Amino acid sequence: MVLPAQCAALELRDVPLPEPGPGQVLLRVRACGVCRTDLHVVDGELPHPKLPLVPGHQIVGETEDGRRLGVPWLGWTCGRCRYCTSGRENLCDEARFTGYDLDGGYAEYAVADERFCFPVPDGYPDLQAAPLLCAGLIGYRSLRLAGDGERLGLYGFGASAHIVAQVARAQGRRLFGFVRAGDEAARAFALELGCEWAGASDGLPPEELDAAIVFAPAGELVPAALRAVAKGGVVVCAGIHMSDIPSFPYELLWGERVVRSVANLTRRDGEEFLALAPQVPVHTEVEVFPLEQANEALGRLRRGEIRGAAVLQP
Ligand SMILES: [Zn+2]
Ligand SMILES: [Zn+2]
Repeated sequence: MVLPAQCAALELRDVPLPEPGPGQVLLRVRACGVCRTDLHVVDGELPHPKLPLVPGHQIVGETEDGRRLGVPWLGWTCGRCRYCTSGRENLCDEARFTGYDLDGGYAEYAVADERFCFPVPDGYPDLQAAPLLCAGLIGYRSLRLAGDGERLGLYGFGASAHIVAQVARAQGRRLFGFVRAGDEAARAFALELGCEWAGASDGLPPEELDAAIVFAPAGELVPAALRAVAKGGVVVCAGIHMSDIPSFPYELLWGERVVRSVANLTRRDGEEFLALAPQVPVHTEVEVFPLEQANEALGRLRRGEIRGAAVLQP
């Protein structure tokens, strides 16, 4: 499924089999997760993707010699810059991203630099494994950067929150879910996933929080989350794109509250999370679409109609 230009529908096309370059493997795609980032690329909210582009950066694929590999968003880094040499390859200026700078997994075949692929944990079927590769991984990085606080707020109950909630519960944290006002299905889902309270995202929880992770791409949630956290609390913005944050009184930040973003992933995040997921164990809830229905899957995600994660199957 090819994106010919931004703000256009994906097109089902026959394209040549991709040829692996040096260090790359050819993968037969068995499943590819659909991420909100894919929507930002399609909708033109992230500038300068490769075009035409095969989107998709949560690929579960099989190598020619029968190994099952996961391909994440981080597709290549320079390995030499200040970021790469200090354990922060997620910030590399020259990084190339799967399904953005590089063709991704909305296809029957993909190529990937093997150094950036992960073995997929046994015990996860292909479809259930796919959402671990971004929703899980970046969610895990966000959770780590939120600190060790016990009372955690989650804003937006999509693919990432549904995984992070399970990890956070296993760590013994108390969870508070924030959903769009009136979205009863999302509220029920948040409670099912172990939140002790779930309510409207513009409201306040029954007690102060130690940290909050904002998954929804809505800037007005940042001051809302700052209002909900206690002194010293951390608000982590987990998405790659967000609408503008409205101005807010300094009082909301005062008291050593912190606002920070999370960008991309390092390979270490991937190794840690994929080792942890089977121990929790994380169960992913997926809605499966045939590959040729990628536009339908993206539309459902845009309208907030996916429960858990959407996954494409070639
Ligand atoms: Zn993603
Ligand atoms: Zn670099």
